[in-house]
Amino acid sequence: MSLSTEKSEKGVILHGIGVSPGIRIGRVEAIEYEKLKVPWSELAGEQVELEAARYDQAVTRAIDQLERQKRRVNRHSSEEHYFILEAHQYMLKDDMLAAEPSKLIRDHHFNAEWALKITLERLNDNFSRMDGEMARKRITDLADVGRRVMENLMGVRRRALNDIRADSILVAHTITPGDATHFYSHPVRGFALEVGGKASHIAIVARSMEIPAVLGLENLLTVAKQGDWLVIDGSRGLVVVNPDAEQLDRYRKKEASYDDWNERLHVNRDLPAVTQDGVRIVLKGNIESVEETPTLAEHGAEGVGLFRTEFMYMDRTRPPTEDEHYAYYRRLVESCDCGPVTIRTMDIGSDKYPAYWPYVDEANPALGCRAIRGIARDRQFFVDQIRAIYRAGVHGDVKLLLPFISGVAEVDDVKVLLEDVLKNMREEGAEFNPDIPLGVMIELPSAAIVSDHLATRVDYFSIGTNDLIQYTLAVDRDADQLSTLYNPLHPAILRMIKMTCDHAARVPIPVALCGEMASEMEYTLLLLGLGLRELDMPASAIPSVKEIIRASTLAEARELAERALLCQTADEVEDVVFPYMAHRFPSFFEDID
Ligand code: PEP
Ligand code: MG
Repeated sequence: MSLSTEKSEKGVILHGIGVSPGIRIGRVEAIEYEKLKVPWSELAGEQVELEAARYDQAVTRAIDQLERQKRRVNRHSSEEHYFILEAHQYMLKDDMLAAEPSKLIRDHHFNAEWALKITLERLNDNFSRMDGEMARKRITDLADVGRRVMENLMGVRRRALNDIRADSILVAHTITPGDATHFYSHPVRGFALEVGGKASHIAIVARSMEIPAVLGLENLLTVAKQGDWLVIDGSRGLVVVNPDAEQLDRYRKKEASYDDWNERLHVNRDLPAVTQDGVRIVLKGNIESVEETPTLAEHGAEGVGLFRTEFMYMDRTRPPTEDEHYAYYRRLVESCDCGPVTIRTMDIGSDKYPAYWPYVDEANPALGCRAIRGIARDRQFFVDQIRAIYRAGVHGDVKLLLPFISGVAEVDDVKVLLEDVLKNMREEGAEFNPDIPLGVMIELPSAAIVSDHLATRVDYFSIGTNDLIQYTLAVDRDADQLSTLYNPLHPAILRMIKMTCDHAARVPIPVALCGEMASEMEYTLLLLGLGLRELDMPASAIPSVKEIIRASTLAEARELAERALLCQTADEVEDVVFPYMAHRFPSFFEDID
């Protein structure tokens, strides 16, 4: 690569969201999709059916286009990418896109483009009112799928990504998972987009194709122009447009050292997570959709530590039926061959709920009818899911996990309900596995405090620090302005984790920790020292956590935890843990700048 080094001005640095790690340098290929100006017209009565048929054709065409893209992906065996395209096909077949616009055409005599626009706006509004990654993912999916149908209706052809220069860096407002299928035959060094976040499907595709990517770079297209040089740092979430000689030199070195480091981490994929003094730690992946199962084995996960089922309830007008649940869980279990799959029953309420959830008007939803509390109003909601999980247990190693448990009485009640479900299934002669282990999440302070009693009632614990921190410290987990208070190292949190592990060990039952804390390498030793032997996290975090484990001893972890437990404030704990980790693992914790 030859890059002019005459420029003395520093390159422009833009900060976004790093969604797929790696550092790459290349020339910009800028793609600007035409802004679609949606036409409006009022149809005469006799045109209505023709217009509805035109809409149906545009949808069918979109499904066919996705089918062709799926075939392209299939050749490169990326199941993850394949499932995303398939999910887009499902969206097109669902009533919300398949039927709603036709209804508007018939009821209001709108032209098809306008009917689609209105439908997309309504759905977008619904999802925008929900918080959380899953809702954000649905919003981008909807935009991708909606644009595809709109282009078909308007006869717009987008620039194919197969005529961009190989080895360039793609810069665009957004691209779809379908667009990305071109990267198999026309690889790019990386891509940078103006919109999108960590959980968007295009981010999942980038990670599965191992293409460094940064999203959410506002105004990128006004700064980075066709042919410019661009550095993309997917690990730190930034791009440098037209770097000067010094920046370029620095990033070339980083590019090389990142590649070395990455190679080392991939080597550890098949090695066990064993400490130097021989203690085996289990590392599993957390996922939210079957599309993500390929990432598990790729990163050395030993199963699914947490399968969040909420999204199954989201973009629809009624809850899934038992058979819909079952079909999905069966596919999940069959596509995950690296270990057991822990399916958590729906954790709807608080920040994530569909419009049909009966408790949408609560004044204080985080303290409201979340998860199993909903059984009081609608038992069937829960029973359908439970039955499907027992049925899916026939096809693989499944565990059942209950979220948001506040104490013993709830567990006892749910166990009576489970017995009832099993009895009915036996009487019906259904095919199911009655021996699925039952676990509860320890994510409320009350549950941690009575974990001695809970431990005698269930087969395992999974500590959910995301909520445990929120509810113990009374800090909204999503409130940016309070983020300094939301500290996993608060002594109260450490004591609760320790207490839960100690209570579980007395019975004994296994304990996992599945909150975000498990994925952060600076906490790994501390967590082992507090008593954890299983950590569940997004699969991509597993290799680095495993490196720490393999280089440590349990003895030092215990010593570190003992010192941390003596502290009175989170700051004091930080002063114990961070310098220790930085000293022990300098290559992991050095500031790469
Ligand atoms: C948690 O609370 O730590 C957890 C893993 O559950 P969620 O993030 O889905 O609430
Ligand atoms: Mg939780």
